[in-house]
Amino acid sequence: MNSNDGAGFDPNCRRCPRLATYLDEVRAEHPAYHARPVPAFGDAAPRLLIVGLAPGYHGANATGRPFTGDYAGILLYETLHALGLASAPASLHRDDGLTLSGCRITNAVKCLPPANKPMGEEIRSCNRFLAAEIEELGPELVVFALGRIAHDAVLRARGERLAAWRFGHGAEHTLPDGLVLVDSYHCSRYNTQTRRLTPDMFMKVTARAAELAGLGR
Ligand code: SF4
Repeated sequence: MNSNDGAGFDPNCRRCPRLATYLDEVRAEHPAYHARPVPAFGDAAPRLLIVGLAPGYHGANATGRPFTGDYAGILLYETLHALGLASAPASLHRDDGLTLSGCRITNAVKCLPPANKPMGEEIRSCNRFLAAEIEELGPELVVFALGRIAHDAVLRARGERLAAWRFGHGAEHTLPDGLVLVDSYHCSRYNTQTRRLTPDMFMKVTARAAELAGLGR
């Protein structure tokens, strides 16, 4: 079963004034764009929660589904499909019938930030939704953080000191409550084009996160 929200998600949230105003402007310029907080997408009872940073302008912000319509989503959905976690190798739009099995994708910040850079107070404000989502899914969950901001957001959501858990590609952290956090470099265009993150590296770390969650081939 696939669900398009995440615990406590508020599709009309305007807690961050800068982002809410920005989305008003984006909606005026692109009336067909979603241009609102983007809900999580995937299994209603996942064992693996994939956490990205924030919607991209012409990607999730346009389509309303995480990592859909932008460059970063190409590698992510291809990888999930290769591991048997996605029903198709590409996420095209919200009504394409794609389903995720055993995993769900969410973002640390639900609204499009200008220049892809959320401010600290916006990350902190939106953390309530990530915290509620992780809490609802329980400590058996494996969380796969794409990038340091997502890593920090997961730690904050669990009330952990950020300095105690260092981000690193492939790093695995077992938090005191039993929740396992696996880190990866973000599968952004920049990281993949500079070869900081290769498809092979991403496949290995995603497969490891899936394995820890008891998923995958
Ligand atoms: S980023 Fe999060 S907290 Fe801020 S307005 Fe969007 S949904 Fe609300």
